[in-house]
This record gives sequence, structure tokens and C-alpha cells, in this order.
Amino acid sequence: MPEFDDAYYRSCGISTVRGIGERYARSLREHGLNSFYDLIFYLPYRYLDKTRITPIAALKPGGSAALLHARLTRANQHQSGRMTLLQLTLQDSSGFIQAVIFNARAPQYQRFKAGAEVLAFGRVLYDRFGALSLQQPQLTLIEGAPPPLDKTLTPVYHSAGQVPQTVLRRTVAHALDTLALKPLPELLPEDLNPFKLTLAAALQTVHRPPPPEQPCPLLPAQLPAFARLCFEELCAYQISLLGLKKLNSERKAAALGTAAGLWQRFESALPFKLTAAQRRAIAEIAADLGAGRPMLRLLHGDVGSGKTVVAAAACLIAQDAGAQAVLLAPTELLARQHYRNLQELLGPLGGRVVLLQAALSKKERESVLTRIKSGEAAIITGTHSVFQQAVEYHNLALVIIDEQHRFGIAQRLQLLSKSPLGLTPHQLVMTATPIPRTQQLALYADLDVSTLDEMPKGRLPVITTLLSQRKRGELIARVAAQAKAGAQIYWVCPHIDEDSEEEVGTPSAKSVYQELTAAHPELACALLHGQLKAKDRQQAMLEFVEGRARVLVATTIVEVGVDVPAATIMIIDGAQYLGLAQLHQLRGRVGRGQTQSYCVLLHDDSLNDNPIAAARLQVMRSCTDGFKIAQEDLRLRGPGEVFGTQQKGFDTFAIADPARDQQLLAQSRRCAQQMLQRDEAQARQLQERWFPVQGAGTET
Ligand code: ADP
Ligand code: MG
Repeated sequence: MPEFDDAYYRSCGISTVRGIGERYARSLREHGLNSFYDLIFYLPYRYLDKTRITPIAALKPGGSAALLHARLTRANQHQSGRMTLLQLTLQDSSGFIQAVIFNARAPQYQRFKAGAEVLAFGRVLYDRFGALSLQQPQLTLIEGAPPPLDKTLTPVYHSAGQVPQTVLRRTVAHALDTLALKPLPELLPEDLNPFKLTLAAALQTVHRPPPPEQPCPLLPAQLPAFARLCFEELCAYQISLLGLKKLNSERKAAALGTAAGLWQRFESALPFKLTAAQRRAIAEIAADLGAGRPMLRLLHGDVGSGKTVVAAAACLIAQDAGAQAVLLAPTELLARQHYRNLQELLGPLGGRVVLLQAALSKKERESVLTRIKSGEAAIITGTHSVFQQAVEYHNLALVIIDEQHRFGIAQRLQLLSKSPLGLTPHQLVMTATPIPRTQQLALYADLDVSTLDEMPKGRLPVITTLLSQRKRGELIARVAAQAKAGAQIYWVCPHIDEDSEEEVGTPSAKSVYQELTAAHPELACALLHGQLKAKDRQQAMLEFVEGRARVLVATTIVEVGVDVPAATIMIIDGAQYLGLAQLHQLRGRVGRGQTQSYCVLLHDDSLNDNPIAAARLQVMRSCTDGFKIAQEDLRLRGPGEVFGTQQKGFDTFAIADPARDQQLLAQSRRCAQQMLQRDEAQARQLQERWFPVQGAGTET
């Protein structure tokens, strides 16, 4: 009997899954879904409930989409400009409701005539006359017996390029059916698992949960099965952390002394004065670097607290001591930005900085690799490409990882092998995740922590306002005027497109871009979203950085790390659909210079019916402190808030959230320690499941 373990499922390529042709396979691969294994761990971020019929009289505005069983008492088609509108009235025994379908040109709509019996699925909102209305519902004509209702909730997955939601669903379902017959091995010892649920069972439930007893907002994080998965991920994380710690304690590192006068030179070349917190952090790092033991330190500081300068100082120490330092970024975009920053900060001091990026030509790449190998390049910036086997270092002694991300731990272990003479590189991890001190210990094991608890002087707090979508026209005019007067503006949207079923009606980056350029053709706009090719993304960002574009319309892709100090206005469209942490990160993109900055949270009227979303926006308006915002976030999140659109890919964790899962932290730590004691091989297997060493030796 073959073993159906993790390695087996990882080896089943995505195109071996039923229903996936080469075209979809390519799209899925581009989104990191390479295997059967990746699919089963591709968890939905919310659900739709098509398991029950809601009587029309029970519909509430602003909630989740509901399924109605009704008769059409009116069905009028008419033209509005170039659009065909289908206006419907639906009636059941409890009442009636209006519905409008835009762009109803498709022939299928011809079949929806007065008298027809239908199932309708959609969200209810107030229309502009203040009446309840069903927004762009999906309609199914009932001829004969009504179709049976779903037995489980319908998962909604983050979109993967061109692959439609329905195909994603079907594909994951196939994979799960296979998994049910040949489950993945259970790696958590039963006595250490507080959930009494196997991994395979938890995965089945999270992908297709049974309907809740009462209709309620539908999120994976509300399920114990989901918490079970988070717990396992946290255990895996702790195992890798403990491993790293152990490895570190057994090894030696190059002692990088700080030459006299280095600080004076560094500080006098800076365009600003360091804050006391930055100075303290640099001193702590300098002491670690000089000690001959591998540093394992976390640099913790809110958005905009100035972590990059601290990283630059550490790089300078390394170069000055004749060694090499690597500064890793989660995306190419951020790697380029670091490169520019380091050039600016360290160039005048003779910093020998290079950027190892994917877009290099073969010749350029070879030249960079040669300089890294010879030691001519001392400070290397890049993404995970810096880990590839082809990259040989002269004497790598310091690794800095910006904004925590998934390649963190496992690749760091791998990187240890890149250092010469059995020496271990020093490591500095920078993060903006606001976690209270008490939880830090459980999360970061025994990492040393430096905290930037002070903002650079002269910063004016960003002024935040809430604005109704009804004032959108005025806002656009103001944006155009501000841009003309020299301002740089971000306009961020929760979605790329408006095509997927549950996201209808929320602003998309593409449509806003069209809207702005149609209203003001003279306005220099750039568009940035995840479906663009890496090259085009870079291009858009560069145009904004260099000021050629005055407005950057983007998805939440700009959330992490982007630094354009000249940008002073942040508009967040559909702000009620984003979580507090995300809103805070986004707002942190402005208010980075000396000029007063503004943040506008655009929301629609559904806010009136959603007190939690309203409270969230109020928190944003009254508070700028990341820690406080995180606390409020936890308090408000409680059970049941629909965030909908969080984009994955930047965080250390795929699914766990250290703030939300606080109560699991200490327990996961104990579980990890126990597992390492009982059976180290099994513990490593668990680590590998959640934090695989990807890209080892593969060229991208
Ligand atoms: P983050 O901690 O979010 O990574 P950055 O390192 O990007 O923050 O810094 C944010 C902005 O603040 C940058 O434009 C940087 O040049 C500036 N900055 C950093 N330190 C100081 C300081 N001590 N005084 C004034 N400006 C600073
Ligand atoms: Mg940063």
C-alpha cells in the first residue's frame, strides 16, 4: 500500500486534479497552487449560505447574501444608456422585494418572465429611494420540482487569476473527496491536541462546513475546525523557532565589532535625527553583532516607526567589519525600495549595495553574482531569490528579514548553510505586527526583542475622515485638484475586478481607474494590482515613486511596507470591507514626511446597518496607535465580522493570527516542546507541512 503522506500529495501536480486543463493549471501555478497538496490547504476566506430559504420578510440589509424562493410578479427590461436593466419584483408568502439586474443582456434572462418561479441568491441593501432591494441576484428558474438545497455552506476562495470561483470550488471538492479516502497522516499527538479533531477532518469541515443553526455572518475563523488548523500551524511555527534557537546556541558567529567613529559618520550623513528608540535598537544590535554568538533578534515597531534605518545601520556594521549582509523583502517591489533606501543612506558612506532581482538579464545577473561571490558587494537586497543555490556568498554574516513572511523560518535554517567556516549568520527579523508584550514571549519563543516605541519627531498625525459614497463625485473633483496642485494620492480598493458573485457592488481597482481617467483625462494615474505582470507592477510603482503618476489606484497590495514620503493622501474605497489591521497598514503609507497627510475612508450606506464596521471606522478616525488599534480590533471582531478581502501572502502565518489566536499560543508552545522531546522526526514533519523549505536550489 502506498503511503499517502504529505510528500505524496505534494508530488501530485495540479494538472493531475480532475477538471484542470493546462490553461487553468498555469493560472493556478502562478498563484502558488502547484499541487494537489496546495489545493487542500487553500482555505476559503468566507462562506455563502445556500442551505436554507430565507422568507422575504426576514431579509435584513447589509448582511450576508440570502437564498429566496419566490415568484416573479413583475419582470421589466429596459435600456438605461448602454446598459440593459432587468427590474424584477419577487414575492413569497411573507412579502415582496424589488431586484435589479444590470447588464441583463444575456439571452438567459429572456426566460425570467412574470409568473416564473425562481430561486434568487443575493445581498439586500437599501436602494437610493430607501427601499430594500436585492442586489444583482443570481437567478435559477424552477421548472417542476424545486432543486434540493445544499447540504453544506459554499466556500469562497481568493481568486486565482483567470480561474472562475465555480471551477476552484469544484476542483478543491475533487481533491477533498480523494483526501477523504486517503487521509493525510495525523502528526499532532492526540493527548496534546486540545481539539480532538484530526487534520483531515478539520480540512473537510473548513472547506465545506455544515450550516450553522442560526443564520449568521459566515467566516472560517468562527469554526473550531479552523482553530484546530491554526493550532497546528502555531505548533509547527514553534517547532521551527525552537529548532532555530537550538541551532543558534550550538554555533558560533562572526564577531562584528563597531569601529570607533562609525556612528558619528552614520548619523551625520542622515537627513534626519535618529529617535531615542532607534538609537537604543541600534545599540542593542551592535552589541549582539560584536558578541561572537549568533544574534536572533526581533525588531518590533509600528508602521512608520523607522525600521529601515535601523536595518541600514546593521548592514553598515557588517560591511565595516569586512563581512556581508543580506536584506530580504517579501516582494520585488519592496526589495527595490530597500535598495534605493540603502543606496541613499549608505551610498555616501561607501556602502556597496546590490539588488538581486528577478528582472535582471542573464549578463547582469551573472555580474551581480560575481560581485557577491568576490565580496565586492557587501550589502545584498532581494526577495527569496537570495537563497538560491546559485548565490554564493563571500562571507555572509548578517541576515535581515523585513516584514515577516512565510519564507521566514525554514529558509533561515537553510541560509545558515551559506555562511563560511561553520559560522552562523546573525539574524534580525523586522515586524510591524502589534502584539502585546505578554504574548510576544509565547509567539517569539526566546527571541530577543528591540522595540521602536516612538515615532520620528515632527510627524503630524494623519487626519482621518469618513465619507459616504454619495459624496464620491465631490471627492473625485478634489483629488483631481489636489493632484494638479502637486499632491500624490493613493486610491485603494478591496478588489481587482467586479466579476465574482459575492463582490458585486464593491469598488474595484480597475473600475476606479476607469472612473478617474474618464472624469479627468489629464490626471496622471497608475494602476497597480496582483493580476498585473511583475514588470508592469514595478512600472506602475516606479511611476508613482518618481512622481510621474500623481494618483496610484491599487488593491491592498500596497498595504505592506511601501514608502513614498511625498504621498500625503490615502483614499480607502469600500473601507467597511477591510479589517482594522489592514486599514491601519494602509493608512501608514501616508504621514511619512513633514507635510500634513489625510486619510479618507469611503463607505456606502450599508454602514448604517453594520454597527461593527461602523465602530471600526470610528476607531480609525480617533486613533493612530497600532497597539490600541489591535486591541480594539480584537474586541470588535468577536464572533462574526466579514472581512471578505484579506489578501494572503505577506504574513508569517498562512492562517493563524497571533492576535486572534492568543489563547492558543502558550499551549502550542508546550505542544511543540513535547513533540520535540518525544519524536523529533515527527516534529520536523509537522514543521515541514506548514513551513516547507521551498525553492531550495530552484531558479525562478
Ligand atoms: P517602517 O518602520 O514602517 O518600515 P520606514 O523605515 O519605512 O518605516 O520609515 C518611514 C519613513 O520615516 C521613511 O520615509 C523614513 O525615511 C522616515 N524616518 C525614519 N526615521 C526617521 C527619523 N528618525 N526622523 C525622521 N524621519 C524618519
Ligand atoms: Mg518597512
